[in-house]
Order: sequence, then C-alpha cells, then structure tokens
Amino acid sequence: MKNAGNFYIGGAWVAPQDGRDFPVIDPSTEEAVSTISLGGAADTNAAVAAAKAAFPKWAASSKAERLELMETILEVYHKHADEMAAAISSEMGAPIDMAKVQQSGTGSYHLQAFIDAFRDFEFEHPLRAGEESTHIIKEPIGVCALITPWNWPMNQITLKVVPALATGCTMVLKPSEQSPLSGILFSEIMHEAGVPAGVYNMVNGDGPGVGSQLSAHKDIDMVSFTGSTRAGRAITIAAADTIKRVSLELGGKGANLVFADADPKAVKQGIIRCFNNTGQSCNAPTRMLVERSRYDEAVEQAKEAAEATSVNAASAEGRHIGPLVSEMQFDKVQDLIQKGIDEGARLVTGGVGRPDGLNRGFFVKPTVFADCNNDMQIMREEIFGPVLSMMPFDTEEEAIAIANDTDYGLTNYVQTTDPEKARRVARAVRSGMVDINGQARGAGSPFGGMKQSGNGREGGVWGLDEFLEVKAIGGWPAE
Ligand code: NAD
Repeated sequence: MKNAGNFYIGGAWVAPQDGRDFPVIDPSTEEAVSTISLGGAADTNAAVAAAKAAFPKWAASSKAERLELMETILEVYHKHADEMAAAISSEMGAPIDMAKVQQSGTGSYHLQAFIDAFRDFEFEHPLRAGEESTHIIKEPIGVCALITPWNWPMNQITLKVVPALATGCTMVLKPSEQSPLSGILFSEIMHEAGVPAGVYNMVNGDGPGVGSQLSAHKDIDMVSFTGSTRAGRAITIAAADTIKRVSLELGGKGANLVFADADPKAVKQGIIRCFNNTGQSCNAPTRMLVERSRYDEAVEQAKEAAEATSVNAASAEGRHIGPLVSEMQFDKVQDLIQKGIDEGARLVTGGVGRPDGLNRGFFVKPTVFADCNNDMQIMREEIFGPVLSMMPFDTEEEAIAIANDTDYGLTNYVQTTDPEKARRVARAVRSGMVDINGQARGAGSPFGGMKQSGNGREGGVWGLDEFLEVKAIGGWPAE
C-alpha cells in the first residue's frame, strides 16, 4: 500500500514528523503484511491545525454541497469495495467472503443510510407552531477527533466520518493501529472523492500517543470514540479539562433470552450470531439464557452448531470463522476459557488451544460453556472470541434480572413466539438495542448502549445530532 507509512493531513499525504514504525500483522499467518507509522504530538498537532483552519468554510457550506460530496464518496467507495475487503481481511482476519459482504459492505450501507437521513434533516426550525419568535438552529460542534477500533473498521469509520462531514464538522480520524490499512484506503477514497483540504484528516497512532493527544487537545471540540470501556474511561478523563463533548460506544455482554416457545432454530442462530466475526463484536449475544424445560436440548443444539463451525485462514473462501485479531487477544481469550473451566462452568465443546490442523495464526476453538452462573468471569467480562456461556432460568422475571445484572447495556436478544412476552421483555431489558427473533433493525436506526456500554447513538438522525450544537434564539424576526 503506497501511503502505508504516511498520514493524510490538509488534503495531502505527508510523511510523519514524529513517527515510529509499526508492523501490521496478518493474524492468519502471524506475518507482517505492511508497516505503518505511529505518529506523535507534532503529527497530531498538524492534523488538528489543518482541521481547525478548514472549519469556518466547511461549517458554512450548503446542505446541497455536502449531500453531493457524500454521494461522490459512496460512488468512489463502491469502486474500491473489493480492495477494502482484502485490506480488512488481511489486517484483522475477517474471512474474505464475509469481509466483502459484511465488513466492506457496512461502509456503503452506512453511507447510503446517512445520505437518506440527511436529505430530510432540518438544521433550523421554530420551537413549535405558534412560537415562531423562538428559533432553533443546529450548528456543527467544530473539530472532531474520531477514534475507532479494529473489529468492524469500516462500520465504525463511516458511522463517525460521514455524519461529521454531513453536519459541517471537520475532523481527525485515528483508526486502530491493529487495522490501519482500511483506514488508509478510506483516506485515499476521501481524497479521490474531492473532500476539501483539511476537512478530513487521518493520523495513525496508538492510544497512549495520538489517541490521548487528541482526547486532551484544546482545539478538539468533540471526541467520538468506539472501543473498550477501559479506553472510554481514559478518554473521558483526558477530555475533562477542556470540557469537550465525549461520545462513547463501548463494550457489551449481550444476553440472548431463549424462552421455551422459541423457534426451533433459535439456539443455532444464536451461536451463528455469537461467533460471527470470530466473536469479536460488541453486540454479540454471548450469554445464552434458556428456559429450563428446553435447556438440555439447547445445550446439545449449541454443541452441534459450535462443532459445525469451521475455522480457517481469512484468505480461504467460503463460510467459516477466521483467527482473532492479535496475539494479545488470543492470549486473553485463552485465559478466559481457562478461567471458565477453573470456575466450574461445564465445558461442552472447544476449550483452550488451537483447533486441530491450525498450528500458526491466532485461531481459537469454537467453545461452549454450560451451567454458568452470573458471577463467573466468563458471564461478566467481554471475551471477544467465539465463546458462548449458557445458563438456565425458570421464570421471565429471573431471565430479565440475569440479563440486566451486568455493567453493560448494549444489545439484548429475545426469542419467543409469544408477541406479548416479546414486547414485555424488550421493554424490561436495560440496553440501547433489543433484537426480537433475529430480526434486523431498519437502516438509520440508532446504535448505542446504556450503562458502561456508552452514551452515544450512531446512525440516522441520532448520529447526525451527535455532532451538532443546538442554539436557541428568542426574538427571531418573522420571515
Ligand atoms: P481499544 O479500546 O483497545 O481501542 C480502540 C481505539 O482506541 C484504538 O484506536 C486505540 O488506539 C484507541 N485507544 C486505546 N487506548 C486509548 C486511550 N487511552 N486514549 C485514546 N485512545 C485510545 O478497543 P479495541 O480492542 O480496538 O476494540 C474492541 C472494543 O471495542 C471492544 O470492547 C468492543 O466491544 C468495542 N466496540 C464497541 C462498539 C460499539 O459500538 N459499542 C463497536 C465495536 C467495538
């Protein structure tokens, strides 16, 4: 990749002022596929200065101009979609076919969804009918730092860059150092689409470096962050001195409530959902709670589905899961699987070590634990691997109480054929999102969590509002 070692600042690819080399490791082979540069304070400052200089003009740009630019970005993105899938697959291990459809696909999906939400978006309106002398104006918040994780790189990047652009903000993106190639390619797409110089900037770096520098920077008005609850906490603290807005999309530990009357395929679908992206999704349904009358059968079904999950290199075509992203994640997941065994959960299938025949690469055995209780670490911590923890329940109230007994509150799942129960349970669980019987939410829905899963909402009109200040004006002259 031609710009791998450079940063995109002020509309041009520039060499780092303060950089150090960092290898990009293909997690299927454990070999370096590229070398990027991790920037330092001088690079962060240069990118922030470029975004600050570009802000007044971009903030004053018209809605039509921004809409046209978003449409051009989508067109250029489509052109590079396969290249994007290949970059994501090699940097973080998503199987190539899955990377094309889901990983690269989320980029164009969000671009289109924001274009649709933006068309009807009102930046100005009277307070209410009959109160026309009070006028509300939504204005861009300013210069934004966008800090993203490696697990769904284009999903997170487009969920931040596109609304920031649409609302008239300027920005500095810092993609995850574990998945920088997709971020570099995305910056090339932005350049090709003709984004005005300084409106969009990208600096590679790590959390303690560029990430912390952006969070504490006096000229950054907002940090939009997706990643771990640990880093979200650090960013909030670093941002406090400058009272900037901090929007957080953090971890999750979703419960999947399988009632006795659920569809026969609910358990198998729960496993597929939990293991998608090799279990590395914030909204994965990792705690499966099953009504006792169906529990033994469900454990058998989960075992079967996990054992039918094939594991292979990211470059292999077809349906399978890939490796975990890094050696660090591999070690963390191995430790948690061992912890589950030590804490007395019943290992139904999988376990520590690599799957047979895969001696190199960060591959993990698809693993199912049964007879868990909600005090176990594997029920409380985000494992971020293909590991499901199962537990029986007796009543609806108990299922809801277990689901809500967590620091997280991102997505919960309800499986029942009783519509009354589905509505009741969906209302009672404390999470930003609920998925009933595997049905996807519509494009432009708000994505975000409660409790320690964060405080932001991305996507649709909610995602646009995140980047806006609200100004209320009294005595607005009649028009
Ligand atoms: P991470 O928190 O380690 O890193 C995320 C990003 O933050 C990276 O760009 C990293 O360089 C940066 N960073 C790390 N420490 C920082 C600090 N102190 N200051 C500023 N920046 C810092 O997370 P990860 O391992 O890349 O991603 C996995 C996590 O992301 C999981 O917890 C997952 O649940 C979460 N996630 C949440 C959502 C959501 O929308 N809620 C979506 C995807 C992933």
